[in-house]
Amino acid sequence: MSTIIEVKNLAVSFHTYGGEVQAVRGVSFSVPRGSTVAIVGESGCGKSVTAKAMMQLLSCPPAEYKGGEILFNGEDILQKTERQMERIRGNEMGMIFQDPMTSLNPTLTIGRQITEGMMKHRAFNGKEAKEEAIQLLHLVGIPQPEQRFDQYPHEFSGGMRQRVMIAISLACQPELLIADEPTTALDVTIQAQILQLLKKLQEEMGTSILLITHDLGVVAETCDYVVVMYAGVVVESGTAEEIFANAQHPYTKGLLQSIPRLDQQRAQALRPIIGSPPDLMDPSPGCPFYARCEQAMRICKNHHPTLEHVNGEHYSSCWLRHPMAQVVR
Ligand code: SF4
Ligand code: MG
Repeated sequence: MSTIIEVKNLAVSFHTYGGEVQAVRGVSFSVPRGSTVAIVGESGCGKSVTAKAMMQLLSCPPAEYKGGEILFNGEDILQKTERQMERIRGNEMGMIFQDPMTSLNPTLTIGRQITEGMMKHRAFNGKEAKEEAIQLLHLVGIPQPEQRFDQYPHEFSGGMRQRVMIAISLACQPELLIADEPTTALDVTIQAQILQLLKKLQEEMGTSILLITHDLGVVAETCDYVVVMYAGVVVESGTAEEIFANAQHPYTKGLLQSIPRLDQQRAQALRPIIGSPPDLMDPSPGCPFYARCEQAMRICKNHHPTLEHVNGEHYSSCWLRHPMAQVVR
């Protein structure tokens, strides 16, 4: 399978009054064409920063790219000019954000917002764009799209606004859709509907999807691959099947134990991961999860674990996987 986007050793820092925050510290992963990849991790782990970097949406300063490449269809996004990026964003890459209200323009009808990109990037005339927009609204499950076309964002519920956002981001038929916590602000039933919708659209349009989420629970049914981030690094990655059935990294295991499960007895209380992530202003040379890890060993304190191959496409960055681990323990 070919790759639509490949992030290679990406490093991003933020300059603050307190010093340099190393938000992303050498992240690598790729999105196979036509697949859904989830980046999972707690807030502050660098997942949104990575997603924004992929569309060159970070403001520099305060952000600074410290290294790495982001190859989109083989070309480095980080070398593109703002002009080139304007063509790529919305046209070849679409983005859906957490809160649709802040990304929709309250003063324009949703019809206008959906058709704008089509007229700009796909050279549609007004009539063609309107027809296509109504089809899209229908596709994303908005009832009576002909009437809804002329309405404003405030006339839609939260779930419907998120559907409108998806319609806007699909209007230019992007090859890659980056969805940053697209369902966090919505209630659980609507979350499931939106994720099913993304999945259906992917089947119909072949769009590759990168889903950013803090909730491993939403990943299970919708994603092909999972990348787990912690404190600015990737700690584990693999197919969703592997990660759910055979997680290796103590952090991933902790995330899995904190997902509510319908088939679980009440008595089996959820186990939150105790403690908080390390300070990225002065990260230690050891494993970033050291302070919170119940299985930490002596070596973990001062030596960063190497990425070890588990099987197939499954990798974990933890000394427990290392053949020497038991010896030096
Ligand atoms: Fe825990 Fe050590 Fe593995 Fe880090 S490297 S997750 S501290 S066992
Ligand atoms: Mg975020």
